Amino acid sequence: MNKLTKLLPTATAGSLPKPSWLAEPEKLWSEWKLSNQELQAGKQDALRVSLHEQQQAGIDIVSDGEQTRQHFVTTFIEHLTGVDFSQRQTVKIRDRYQASVPSVVGAVSRDRAVFVNDAKFLRQQTKQPIKWALPGPMTMVDTLYDKHYQSREKLAWEFAKILNQEAKELVEAGVDIIQFDEPAFNVFFNEVNDWGIACLEKAIEGLNCQTAVHICYGYGIKANTDWKKTLGSEWRQYEEIFPKLQKSNIDIVSLECQNSHVPMELIELIRGKKVMVGAIDVASKQIETPEQVANTLRQALEFVDADKLYPCTNCGMAPLSREIARGKLNALSQGAEIVRNELTGNFA
Ligand SMILES: [Zn+2]
Repeated sequence: MNKLTKLLPTATAGSLPKPSWLAEPEKLWSEWKLSNQELQAGKQDALRVSLHEQQQAGIDIVSDGEQTRQHFVTTFIEHLTGVDFSQRQTVKIRDRYQASVPSVVGAVSRDRAVFVNDAKFLRQQTKQPIKWALPGPMTMVDTLYDKHYQSREKLAWEFAKILNQEAKELVEAGVDIIQFDEPAFNVFFNEVNDWGIACLEKAIEGLNCQTAVHICYGYGIKANTDWKKTLGSEWRQYEEIFPKLQKSNIDIVSLECQNSHVPMELIELIRGKKVMVGAIDVASKQIETPEQVANTLRQALEFVDADKLYPCTNCGMAPLSREIARGKLNALSQGAEIVRNELTGNFA
């Protein structure tokens, strides 16, 4: 990615709040307030606004803010055949909370592109590097009831092939970094090592761009914050999967560091990878100070080379208010600038 020569380029994990005229704010799976052509136009306007807010904050690697999707997993699945949204089952997802999910009733396939037009639209709006998030195969499987394959591994492999098709078209549309969201990687360690990373590698096969995997402790919703309380004083989940991830072909690993109890030295286990260090807590309405962000980045720099560190948010910010999200984007940018100046000896 030639366009990215800046030290410590900032990015967001993915989603950003939607305008209140498009969907009810501060909520996941929020219903659209518009329909038909108005909805299409509204989504594009929201994407423009979201891009503008990232640019105003000085974010270097921009995204669509996930303005065109209701949810990071289900919106992608809605576009596939083989999944019936009218046949819903309540299952335990992420081994954590009950959710009503659609059923896989036949062979899954992607008959048309999902996000490619959105990516083309974003590409028209900016020359900055673009990162595009897709759900990861394991997290997709974990958000469905599977009547057809009755094998998480087989279904994940089929999804990996579908994701690879979509990703290739996104790259053609001008996306610079494709990111797969795999919060399930922090839960099902044996499966991650048995087949999760293999499926991820299938999803990135032959992609002519940088690739990332985002592994977090989830949005700041109650089920997740309750779960975090049970994880003890040290969160060592990454330790189970980083050794294998380090050997994979993934270029970038996005992880959660701000206000989490992840021991920073675990980053050492993925030495050689680029690391998107989460320096913004998305589960708190408290806006970090630039100095707090800088501190997190300084700690991470003990375990990742400066040219491989990408300051980022812990996770998506869709459930936050726009005002708080803007404040957090500004803090991220300003905190990264402090450390950038320290590294280059440029104290203005
Ligand atoms: Zn996340």
